[in-house]
Amino acid sequence: MAALNLARLIAAASDTIAANAEELTALDQAIGDGDHGLNMKRGFEAVRAEAEAFSAKPLPDALKAIGTKLVMTVGGASGPLFGTLFLALGKEISAKPDRANLTAAFGKAIEAVAARGKSQIGQKTMLDVLQPVHDALLQGKTALEIADIADAAADATVPMKALRGRASFLGDRSIGHMDAGARSTALLVRTVAHSLGESA
Ligand code: ADP
Ligand code: MG
Repeated sequence: MAALNLARLIAAASDTIAANAEELTALDQAIGDGDHGLNMKRGFEAVRAEAEAFSAKPLPDALKAIGTKLVMTVGGASGPLFGTLFLALGKEISAKPDRANLTAAFGKAIEAVAARGKSQIGQKTMLDVLQPVHDALLQGKTALEIADIADAAADATVPMKALRGRASFLGDRSIGHMDAGARSTALLVRTVAHSLGESA
């Protein structure tokens, strides 16, 4: 993995979330309260506003700063969870990670999200995308394959029954809709995979 252009990656992630905010909102309207698109857009715009300062830091500190900013700005249930993902990633990653370090750090970050959300795979949340992405990293999949795996994993939340978050209040009526947080996670995974693929 070659050097990562963090400022460019932050801009790309923020663009992706903004471009898909309406879709995320619509997904959250179906089985939640319809704020996920706006929550994510606000958070990633806040990160983008400080992209220069963040990307001047060593990668672990930059990721921790991004996590803290997301906790403060995204809101909802997803803010603390995405925030935890980046904070934990920042704690575990090295300044110049190779794939093995990235994979191990990502695994620890997923454990931190699961602990924070008291959630596990199969409950129709962002974890249902994060875990398959980690598996794909372990299996040595390419960046493009990983992006496709993330999309398929988000699609696979459609037939699931939500057991965590607001959607769980709907019980069986949550079945038949994609989880909004799974979709936003897949969008972010594609953006990161594209950027790492380019620099690989
Ligand atoms: P809120 O549900 O408070 O309105 P958002 O709409 O921003 O917050 O985010 C909802 C998303 O957060 C869900 O689609 C799901 O992916 C994720 N989520 C909610 N609760 C949990 C949890 N306990 N564990 C993991 N992910 C969760
Ligand atoms: Mg919501």
